[in-house]
Amino acid sequence: VRKGKTPEEVVKKYLQKVKSPPEEDCTICMEPLGGPSGYKGPGVGPVSRAESVGRLAQCGHQYHFQCLVAMYNNGNKDGSLQCPTCKTIYGVKTGNQPAGKMEYHVIPHSLPGHPDCKTIRIIYNIPPGIQGPEHPNPGKPFTARGFPRHCYLPDSEKGRKVLRLLLVAWDRRLIFSVGTSSTTGESDTVIWNEVHHKTEFGSNLTGHGFPDPGHLDNVLEELRAQGITEDDVLV
Ligand code: NAD
Ligand code: ZN
Ligand code: ZN
Repeated sequence: VRKGKTPEEVVKKYLQKVKSPPEEDCTICMEPLGGPSGYKGPGVGPVSRAESVGRLAQCGHQYHFQCLVAMYNNGNKDGSLQCPTCKTIYGVKTGNQPAGKMEYHVIPHSLPGHPDCKTIRIIYNIPPGIQGPEHPNPGKPFTARGFPRHCYLPDSEKGRKVLRLLLVAWDRRLIFSVGTSSTTGESDTVIWNEVHHKTEFGSNLTGHGFPDPGHLDNVLEELRAQGITEDDVLV
């Protein structure tokens, strides 16, 4: 997104005009689309009646224009927008994963359930640091537990495809986030985002290991939900 593009301009780019709003509620603010946005916050300016409701161009869901702007302002303002109803992504979604390193190599062992191939080991390393404006508590430190984290994929055609998409997800800062760990309850810490990884190598005692026949397809689906598909690696 070019510098200086306002939240209103970003949102407008993904919208079509709606002449007469349907007799439905806006599912962001729960107020009727025929009336004003229920969102009253800082920086909410007046909008003309003709622009008060917009239809997202691809999925067709309709919202108050101001509600979409408020939603955009609550996110990391990366120039992308995600429909809160159907999760369709407009633009390129990025996350708030802190700085760190992603490395991978092939190891000469097979995973349970994948006897015919070797294994890709991914190593993620993220040091602790200070939260930025895109994090829940800007200026406050965050911890980073259990790094380096080692993850495994079969070195099969499909496993290599997942790896390529994970590299895109890493570049878009979507593999980890900063928040509260559901495992430990610790807040202000680095946590896995919405893409599952296998961190156990030889067994599946934790549920984060192999065999798991559906794993690669699940990950492809989770990546798709973040806006990452095969199209992203065919360039
Ligand atoms: P989380 O507990 O908030 O969970 C987020 C997602 O990660 C969930 O989908 C969950 O199913 C998945 N997940 C949880 N544990 C996982 C694991 N071991 N391997 C793969 N996926 C896992 O996320 P979190 O706090 O980032 O994950 C907790 C895991 O992080 C721990 O199990 C451990 O591996 C590591 N950790 C280690 C230490 C340490 O001191 N060594 C401390 C905290 C966390
Ligand atoms: Zn609304
Ligand atoms: Zn939608």
